[in-house]
Amino acid sequence: MTTSPAAAQNARALKRASRPLARARQRVLVVGAGIAGSATAFMLARSGYDATIIDAAQAPYEGGYQILLDPTALEIMEQLGVQDIALELSAPDPLVSLRRNGSEKAEFEMTGYRMARRGDLVGRLSTRFAESVPTEFGKELVGIEQRLDGVRAHFANGSSDDYDFIVGADGLNSTVRRLTMESTRSTIHTNGRICLWVNVPGHLEGPSDAAVLTGNRLGALVFPYPDKDETLVVTAVQMGARHRFDAADLQPLAADLLAGSGSDLAHFVDALRHAPREQTRVTSFAQVRAPRWHSRRVVLVGDAAHCIDPLSGLGAHGGLLGGSILAQELRRTPQDFDRAAERYQRRTRRFVSAAQRVTAGLMELATAKGVGDRLHGVSELAQGIGRARQVRAPRALYARDDAARTRR
Ligand SMILES: Cc1cc2nc3c(=O)[nH]c(=O)nc-3n(C[C@H](O)[C@H](O)[C@H](O)COP(=O)(O)OP(=O)(O)OC[C@H]3O[C@@H](n4cnc5c(N)ncnc54)[C@H](O)[C@@H]3O)c2cc1C
Repeated sequence: MTTSPAAAQNARALKRASRPLARARQRVLVVGAGIAGSATAFMLARSGYDATIIDAAQAPYEGGYQILLDPTALEIMEQLGVQDIALELSAPDPLVSLRRNGSEKAEFEMTGYRMARRGDLVGRLSTRFAESVPTEFGKELVGIEQRLDGVRAHFANGSSDDYDFIVGADGLNSTVRRLTMESTRSTIHTNGRICLWVNVPGHLEGPSDAAVLTGNRLGALVFPYPDKDETLVVTAVQMGARHRFDAADLQPLAADLLAGSGSDLAHFVDALRHAPREQTRVTSFAQVRAPRWHSRRVVLVGDAAHCIDPLSGLGAHGGLLGGSILAQELRRTPQDFDRAAERYQRRTRRFVSAAQRVTAGLMELATAKGVGDRLHGVSELAQGIGRARQVRAPRALYARDDAARTRR
């Protein structure tokens, strides 16, 4: 059968008209301008999403306590083009002395690790990422409405806006998680350990840069800041049956531990014992062990999904790794949010559950009081190490070349 030129032209026009219109860029709201949120938003924007970041804080943080950057966090930061900030604000390879009840058990160099002041680092990173992604500080998310065609966000200032999806990167006590994934059951796992954080003047006066101390029922990390003559002492204490406590209860315990742990720590003891309340911070050991990290058009990253605890030194690693895996999975199936979020959760959880077990086990061992406690710490640790597997960051953080490799 032959077709006339006019009929062929009509058929071509009909075919063109029946093709789906080029899809509009998906709108994404990222809640939280911490390390996880700002890096994830940047990777999504580079992957073609119309991303916006909001943060409840009035301005990027400054100062604060120590944060550790491990080789994975540094590798991802290099790929994101923010390595200059990490290098400028941190010091490399601390030499750490490990002591128990005053005697040194080992000394090791944390090769490939860097120490930075968390607030300064996060502030500089979020300012850099805000050059590529619109970022609004002083805007707090208070409500989420899931809809058939997307999701509506409500803000404390009374406004609301519609998005294709929301990324909750709003930290340990995530509002996004509470609004969309928790009913009555808390997903925060605790173990009765309390931490006292104090910045004291001076650095260690021996050959080591840093120290890890353990005693009876308590342990401490003593890590210097790179930018000035100041050191973080963070002391974890097993409080037993006591539930009410404040810094004044913990300061004498921390000071006594340092006093008995070596002469190179002696000059910290008084500053620790008498630090004014406003220069101290008390936190509970806390890990987010949530069964799901996504629900309909909402997904969690960083501490909101899987806080490992600041003492792990793995918060930046977890947030950056998870964000890069999420961005990669969304690129693979941009129109199938559920499957992308599910694959992201499955891949990232392999690292997270091992890291959580190891951190909880180490913390419980370091603050153990008797054989029962120690055995529990050892078993948590063994389970974590048993499950540990290498989970590598994607090689291309925001290239579009992996759509073809979509797993069905
Ligand atoms: C104030 C602060 C201090 C910290 N200090 C240390 C430290 O000294 N050492 C350490 O190892 N780790 C610290 N952490 C944790 C560490 O930052 C994280 O483990 C890691 O960087 C991963 O961070 P994240 O981006 O997932 O979450 P976070 O760094 O916790 O960032 C979450 C962000 O979400 C914002 N937010 C929360 N709720 C809302 C809301 N409803 N609407 C909009 N924005 C919201 C917060 O203002 C915050 O900026 C700290 C976290 C915070 C928030």
